[in-house]
Amino acid sequence: MTRGYNFCSGPAMLPTPVMEQAQAELPDWHGLGMSVMELSHRSDEFVAVSEHAEAKLRQLLEVPDDYAVLFLQGGATLQFSAIPMNLLGAGGAATFLDTGTWSSKAVKEAARYGEARVLASTEAEQYRRAVRANEFEVDPSAAYLHFTPNETIGGVEFDYVPSSGDVPLVADMSSCILSKPIQVSDYGLIYAGAQKNIGPAGLTLVIVRKSLLGKALPGTPTLLNYANQAEAGSMVNTPPTFAVYLAGLVFDWLEQQGGPSAMAALNAQKSALLYRTIDDSGFYRNPIAVEHRSRMNIPFILADETLNEVFLSEASAAGLYNLQGHRSVGGMRASIYNAMPLAGVQALVDFMKDFEQRHG
Ligand SMILES: *Cc1c(COP(=O)(O)O)cnc(C)c1O
Repeated sequence: MTRGYNFCSGPAMLPTPVMEQAQAELPDWHGLGMSVMELSHRSDEFVAVSEHAEAKLRQLLEVPDDYAVLFLQGGATLQFSAIPMNLLGAGGAATFLDTGTWSSKAVKEAARYGEARVLASTEAEQYRRAVRANEFEVDPSAAYLHFTPNETIGGVEFDYVPSSGDVPLVADMSSCILSKPIQVSDYGLIYAGAQKNIGPAGLTLVIVRKSLLGKALPGTPTLLNYANQAEAGSMVNTPPTFAVYLAGLVFDWLEQQGGPSAMAALNAQKSALLYRTIDDSGFYRNPIAVEHRSRMNIPFILADETLNEVFLSEASAAGLYNLQGHRSVGGMRASIYNAMPLAGVQALVDFMKDFEQRHG
């Protein structure tokens, strides 16, 4: 078996021990004579798998009891619609901090259901930094304040949690969940597509304060109504059972690694190594304000962009995959989520230094 280092932004690298466990128990799960993906979602066995994943997640993030944990589908993108449907209430306004592609998509979808107001945006600066705490004023009458703690495409990460007073804070943590400890009670709602830091694509996580449930707009589909999903244990319909099972294995792995605080230390080390390599070279450049640089997604531009194709093909040949930047930004991007080991980042910086020596 040869597994390289996959720097894809998502679906992203998953821990090899998780793959191996899934492979070993794939045809016959726990002696039942069938795969976990062939189990009825209503069976005691699968309900236990789902409850295990939820319990582990609650433990890792210290989720308080007055929050529901939902395992849904449709990705973070469907939540751009589900959140206003569930939280706006009649005549309510959603407020936003706009710091990149993902937050602006969230604004656009929310505007279909009510007023969507941007309190502050860094678009005029090509989204090269996050919004600072003194650049917006919370509207106390708003239904919620939405922000994107880590902008996956731009490589911009908030270095603080916006304080929103009594207005529920909503965070799209698709690309940073479980990468460091958080205080769940700071948020009204946290959501994340699984395919970056949790597991395979097809699963979407929502953690929501229970007191916010029960005021979905008329016309909200049953499946998108959080109150229904909370009541049904996320099984209003057939959930993505295999993805839930794999997420549970990833949560077990995370616990073995020391949980979010251990991940925070490792992620700081990994990102510092890569940024130092970029900053110390005259050949690579990262355009993001230093205090808002992402620990998860690190874009970099080569001094000579005609070398992009050579860089990518040589990197692939060295087992360093998917380093091309997002089509809207160009250049390169290394996504280094929890499952990327330090050795993978070390291999990348060694390659980058060697490439610079040969081509710089
Ligand atoms: C990847 C990503 C999304 C989109 O996720 P899907 O699951 O593909 O809908 C939204 N927001 C952020 C911050 C992301 O990183």
